[in-house]
Amino acid sequence: MRLVFMGPPGAGKGTQAGVLAGRLGVPHISTGDIFRANVAQGTELGEQAKAFMDAGEYVPDSITNAMVRDRLTRDDCRPGFLLDGFPRTVEQVAELDAMLTSSGHHLDVVVELTVDVDEVVSRLVKRAQEQGRTDDTEDVLRRRLEVYADQTAPLIETYSDRGLLAKVDGMGTVDQVSERLLSVVSGG
Ligand code: ADP
Repeated sequence: MRLVFMGPPGAGKGTQAGVLAGRLGVPHISTGDIFRANVAQGTELGEQAKAFMDAGEYVPDSITNAMVRDRLTRDDCRPGFLLDGFPRTVEQVAELDAMLTSSGHHLDVVVELTVDVDEVVSRLVKRAQEQGRTDDTEDVLRRRLEVYADQTAPLIETYSDRGLLAKVDGMGTVDQVSERLLSVVSGG
């Protein structure tokens, strides 16, 4: 199964994507997690990405696309994958299309996790305090929500036009949301 997970910062994507990937037995590929790991390890990729992340901006497509291409060609992705946080721009959609076409595959579903904006902001502020993420200060948060609305929200229409979109209500407890997700991806 090949899935894409979308939703604004703070929608609980990371948590739910991890649960769902585990249940489906496919790797959970979070571009945010990969970038953060690279920053923590001080790799060249981390150095390239850090300033963008800290400003609430997207890392340039050339860097992000190369990273995802590398990750998706690993063996563990043969049975499928759950992409969390990619694609986020029109160019990234084109890149993912090209990768899938060249391997003879297609996406099965694009999940949009929906939440209300006030809830998102309060979740993010809480998470910043708990995890000490340097990209979760209030100004940066506001910028990340803007960038999402500008660059990523339009992709939802693209996938909806392709008949791939499943909207799932992200409000409620972690278990409630997980149940909704499982019933959507299992077609029920
Ligand atoms: P969130 O879902 O809370 O916004 P992520 O962990 O998915 O956080 O991403 C954190 C940061 O990593 C983003 O703000 C951005 O700078 C960078 N990033 C992650 N995925 C992408 C992507 N597909 N394209 C560009 N930048 C990305």
